[in-house]
Amino acid sequence: MRLVTYQMLDSQALNTGIQISRDQVLDIAAEVRARSATANVNTMLDIIKGGEATMVLLREIEAHPKTAPIMLNKALLKAPIPRPLKNVFCVGWNYLEHFAEGGAKMQDDGVLPTWPVFFSKAPTAVNGPYDVIPFDADVSTQLDWEVELGVIIGKGGKNIAEADAMNHVFGYTVINDVTWRDIQRRHGGQWDKGKSLDGTCPMGPCIVTADALAHTNLHLTCRVNGVTKQDSNTKHLYFKLPRLIHDLSLGQTLEPGDIISSGTPEGVGYARTPPEFMAAGDLLETEIEGIGVMRNPIGAF
Ligand code: MG
Repeated sequence: MRLVTYQMLDSQALNTGIQISRDQVLDIAAEVRARSATANVNTMLDIIKGGEATMVLLREIEAHPKTAPIMLNKALLKAPIPRPLKNVFCVGWNYLEHFAEGGAKMQDDGVLPTWPVFFSKAPTAVNGPYDVIPFDADVSTQLDWEVELGVIIGKGGKNIAEADAMNHVFGYTVINDVTWRDIQRRHGGQWDKGKSLDGTCPMGPCIVTADALAHTNLHLTCRVNGVTKQDSNTKHLYFKLPRLIHDLSLGQTLEPGDIISSGTPEGVGYARTPPEFMAAGDLLETEIEGIGVMRNPIGAF
């Protein structure tokens, strides 16, 4: 099932929907009203917290809709979770080729990590799949791209065993871990600042529920102005999703709706010769097979 958060073009209100075709969405709240059901489906977080009872209702809605679908030419898809409850968890160095290109750039010793690198992006960094990424040359000019598979936690938990980890996944989305590269590097070796600026976490265009996607073998690409910069597959993830969920949940409670961005493959801008960065007027496209493509213009601040 493909779940979206959308906004009608003539309204500021956000709605949750089930995408039933390329250009059609079912209004979940309207469908719930049409059934006189009582589920809380106002936001994607409500739906995720609703657990299996809500999913049973959504499957019934998708199979037997009672309302006319919303046409997507009258609406705009937003980030599926426009305002997460907490920071987006992120993973560094999780594709070997990216580890190699980054290590070469920074004269690292090339020793592979034993533990994943974690950092996070602020909730205010979350951006829609077609929204403008702010560009302010007075802040930095080193705006870089990182296509990543986003994992949405369903059932919460702490000290989650690797063998049980995938039972805690609600679904998947596309994330670009957009990075202001010089800011990332200059703050004492921790990355949060350079990866948390406003609008640097475009997410979407939907969440595909875990039952509907084979996450271990998905083609993922990133293009700038139509030129492919990253082209890899989630089968090359170094730390697999069960390990990431296990390690993150050690002594730290994961909650429904938490988001994990699982790391980026090779082809980022700073590691190119010469280095490449984006500027106002560029178009960033981020795509994962089976989920969809985001198109984010780089804009003036
Ligand atoms: Mg990243």
